[in-house]
Amino acid sequence: ITVGGKQLAVFAGPCAIESQEQFTTVSKAVKASGANILRGGAFKPRSSPYSFQGLEGDGLKIMYNSGQELNMPICTEVLDTRDVELVAKYADIMQIGARNMQNFKLLREVGKCDKPILLKRGIRTYETATRNTFDISAIPVSKELSHLPIIADPSHATGTYKYVPAIAKGAIAAGADGLMIEVHNCPEKAASDGAQSLTPEKFDKLMKELDPIAKAVNKILL
Ligand code: PEP
Ligand code: MN
Repeated sequence: ITVGGKQLAVFAGPCAIESQEQFTTVSKAVKASGANILRGGAFKPRSSPYSFQGLEGDGLKIMYNSGQELNMPICTEVLDTRDVELVAKYADIMQIGARNMQNFKLLREVGKCDKPILLKRGIRTYETATRNTFDISAIPVSKELSHLPIIADPSHATGTYKYVPAIAKGAIAAGADGLMIEVHNCPEKAASDGAQSLTPEKFDKLMKELDPIAKAVNKILL
């Protein structure tokens, strides 16, 4: 898969990998709807130390199994320099979370691996209606400043599943090379980020609605 070409990259999957059954169910569904990269967290950066922290190594194996079975690349977050070697063994794309985007030691460490890196950025303003702020102007600005593909994450930007479709569409229209979207088979029971997760049905509907927008900006979605 080429990220940054005419074909849009759609990273989809649950916020956290919870079990093989959960990950397989979601992965099969998002693939059927046209996603081309699987996402899922094995190491989770949580605001509370009492929240679910991820299945760690077991989560990586679950994700790897699904990637192999469905013949799809997998993208997962690496939180710490000490885990880089392990995560690099399983992941096709390593994610650096927004909380770590200026953790230079970690950036240097992942930079030594022969793997693509998804570097996340999250900004906030004084607006409280959304979890973060979706900075749509960052898309053309980043494209001018760098040669790298830009992926939009409407799930973490808004924090609310209802707002995800509108922002996803806006991002593609603004020139994003792809999307990262959280999908869960049962959002109300999700171990993390359930409120912003689309059901597989809602994800499928969104992919269909995105198709004409992709075409309008000379990109291919499905
Ligand atoms: C995630 O992708 O689940 C995640 C933790 O993202 P962010 O770093 O943007 O909060
Ligand atoms: Mn998440």
